[in-house]
Amino acid sequence: MVTETDQIIAFVLARLDEAAETQRDQFDAWHGKDCESIYRDAETPTFPCDCGVPERVLAEIDAKRALLEDLDYGGAEMGDAQWLVARRLASLHADHPDYQERWRH
Ligand SMILES: [Zn+2]
Repeated sequence: MVTETDQIIAFVLARLDEAAETQRDQFDAWHGKDCESIYRDAETPTFPCDCGVPERVLAEIDAKRALLEDLDYGGAEMGDAQWLVARRLASLHADHPDYQERWRH
């Protein structure tokens, strides 16, 4: 049976996958303001770059994913915590068409 928690976690994991994919894209990734790779007209753009921002963003994505996994192995109380964490993470994407209004409450 697919529970409400399963559904919201699947939603959050899908958004994390999208964010990671964007962050691995040479032109869509976030960078530091002085990063050489953001000068797209450069003849030889530097990518991967050394500003450190793409790696940090990917590490934050991995940490969110790991947090949800960690909370998956602790019985009922951890299940409640997992639900609360997943709701907070899902709320970052409340404008997404797959976001369910019932997750707000
Ligand atoms: Zn950079």
